[in-house]
Amino acid sequence: AKKKGKDQYAVFEPVMRESFQRHLEMEADLRRAVLRHEFELRFQPIVRLRTGEISGLEALVRWQHPERGMIPPLDFIPLAEETGMIVPIGEWVLREACREAAQWNAQRDPASPLSVSVNLSAVQLDRPDLPEVVGKALADSGLPARCLIIELTESLLVDHRQETLGRLEAIKALGVRLAIDDFGTGYSSLAYLRRFPVDIIKIDKSFVDDVGDVPAAAALTLGIIQLGQALQLSTVAEGIEDAGQLSELTGGNCELGQGYYFAEPLTSEAMQELLFPRS
Ligand code: C2E
Ligand code: CA
Ligand code: CA
Ligand code: CA
Repeated sequence: AKKKGKDQYAVFEPVMRESFQRHLEMEADLRRAVLRHEFELRFQPIVRLRTGEISGLEALVRWQHPERGMIPPLDFIPLAEETGMIVPIGEWVLREACREAAQWNAQRDPASPLSVSVNLSAVQLDRPDLPEVVGKALADSGLPARCLIIELTESLLVDHRQETLGRLEAIKALGVRLAIDDFGTGYSSLAYLRRFPVDIIKIDKSFVDDVGDVPAAAALTLGIIQLGQALQLSTVAEGIEDAGQLSELTGGNCELGQGYYFAEPLTSEAMQELLFPRS
């Protein structure tokens, strides 16, 4: 640390050392977690709003830490990205999500297969072998490419390079669909719709939260839905928590939705029970 003044030294040094220490510990923990398979997936249903039927699932990762218990993704994904550990973790998520979805589809009417949505980090998109990794996850699981949706955030697309676009196009060429996550929260959402070959818009929860009681939020949400329709994209409303929001969104012709109103992210066992109840 820089010795600017005596006081600053005394205040900053221990704090920095502590957080650095903690960072190192967590990094070591993450490496161990990958080797010991401490990650788990939860699956949240994505529902066709008009009929209530389940059209697909979003896979959401959790870290089952041996001492600290269940760690939510926002508490470890940033560090996993910084250290590159997101690459093996993300590949596991992708393979596991495809495997589970294929296994559920094998028990369903082949005419209405479920899709599975997987979140991708920018660090994964930086890897030249990403299209290959995706292709292999599909081939090994037997999941049709049409049933896989890759979710990308706007922030991921902000500082894209030409190679990023090429990789996304290679993944699209497999038949996989692309979704823009948290739509409307970035600075130039509309530009991405032109530049990237997206199929699905996921309307951020912050719009959905207020759709029932703030006129501006309702207008923006309905506007995004209409934009989606005009571009022949599917629209998914995120974070639906009550019947008022649902009726507002259904009235606006939003095609799909997810949120605690329907179901929280479920364990694989709970999802099996929801999809195929033992009567
Ligand atoms: P996201 O992709 O926007 O996922 C939606 C988040 O909202 C999930 O949080 C979900 O549990 C939560 N959620 C769903 N419905 C509701 C609702 O009605 N109310 C409220 N309050 N929340 C709801 P989760 O599982 O904690 O994930 C947080 C974020 O972590 C995700 O946001 C995603 O950006 C990231 N993430 C999760 N899994 C992965 C992964 O496998 N890879 C990568 N790179 N990121 C992931
Ligand atoms: Ca997502
Ligand atoms: Ca989201
Ligand atoms: Ca509300």
